[in-house]
Amino acid sequence: MTLDPAVLAAGLERVRPLNAALAWSVADLVAEVGRAAPNGPLGGMPVAVKDNIATATLPTTCASRILAGYRSPFTATAVARLRAAGGVVACTANMDEFAMGSSTEHSVYGRVLHPLDPTRVAGGSSGGSAALVAAGVVPAALGSETGGSVRQPAAFCGIVGVKPSYGRVSRFGLVAFGSSLDAIGVFGATVDDAARVLAAISGADPRDATALAEPPLALAPARGDLAGLTFGLPREYLPVDLDPGIRAGIDRAVALVRELGGRVVEVSLPHARFAVPTYYVLAPAEAAANLARYDGVRYGSRQIGSAGDLRSLYQTTRGRGFGAEVRRRILVGTYVLSAGYADAYYGRAQSARSLIAADFRAVFASGVDALLTPTTPTPAFKAGEKLADPLQMYLADVFVCSANLAGIPAMSLPVGRSQGLPVGLQLMSPWLDEARMLAVAAVLERHLDPVAEVR
Ligand code: GLN
Repeated sequence: MTLDPAVLAAGLERVRPLNAALAWSVADLVAEVGRAAPNGPLGGMPVAVKDNIATATLPTTCASRILAGYRSPFTATAVARLRAAGGVVACTANMDEFAMGSSTEHSVYGRVLHPLDPTRVAGGSSGGSAALVAAGVVPAALGSETGGSVRQPAAFCGIVGVKPSYGRVSRFGLVAFGSSLDAIGVFGATVDDAARVLAAISGADPRDATALAEPPLALAPARGDLAGLTFGLPREYLPVDLDPGIRAGIDRAVALVRELGGRVVEVSLPHARFAVPTYYVLAPAEAAANLARYDGVRYGSRQIGSAGDLRSLYQTTRGRGFGAEVRRRILVGTYVLSAGYADAYYGRAQSARSLIAADFRAVFASGVDALLTPTTPTPAFKAGEKLADPLQMYLADVFVCSANLAGIPAMSLPVGRSQGLPVGLQLMSPWLDEARMLAVAAVLERHLDPVAEVR
């Protein structure tokens, strides 16, 4: 099947407000169709690409003023592999600036609208990617994850979102946020769409030393049921005050897993409560270091300061170029790394990270094949609701950021709706066990009605 650029253009036009002002053109689409290998396994599948993954053909701006109009001279390995597999870059997708956020409200282009309810957020930071897939204009999209930025918007928008194991997909051409956490992830309208794109972009890459020396992901044969598999339900992820719709979604998933022959056991991840504070020390610390390159000299639209000297150039470029949330992260990150505080914050967070990772290893070593949890504590929230309170925004990541700290694969699968809004089920798997996680998700998907009310 070959993709018709005019049809795709009409689809993108129909949902232009969802992706805010991020532009595309018919000429770009025609050129992109020409870049896709004609007989690749993805067969002309249009894929939206988050604005922090370099296409080299479209601007890569991280939704930031500081990178306005920036075109990378490099093509991300994931994008090159996508094209080589017959995928077509449909457009770039809006995001929270430098991938910092959980609502895609921190973007120089404006906020992304939730496809079912424009007064709500699509989640973040890969909100544009999620909204475009949920609106049905592309079957798949690339996003990035540092602490849940694919799974959380996937859950809010009612689609599939997969974060692979750390190192499974090359990050060459992904703009760095938190280098010990970052991963390129995939959105799909179905498990199969997401799995095929993930398989196409995975694998070792000599241009990224952190990409594992593993062959590309080989998908597992389809299964009929879940017999012989044990699923863990971490009690720390089911607090008594959990949103009733989210709880109903988990109850639905647990009942289904049992019907399909899976065993469900309660497990404990005792350090789960440290995940958000640990993540929000380590991610800003790494971000403060990574974002130092946007100084108006190496990268970034240069703003000469009033004093006319180098210091004033740095201050003006960075002060005007970065939005408030990015500045907050740089300040927090610089503080937790500063002399006299590094042991108390950064060092302790590293220790907590080890404990969080060890919790997962222990649970999987005890015979659990996958964990079942909610993806988010609530369905999609209202735009503006958490903007004035960063801590409330950070708590939207309470169930997702631990997988990034542990480096394990995790995904969100739509289980149904609560009061009309999608509810996501999170599956977390042992290191490098994506193939089985995706096979399990495909079984569940066949028996779930993502648009039915869960209660
Ligand atoms: N919401 C998290 C943050 O703001 C995660 C972002 C991400 O995964 N890129 O840092």
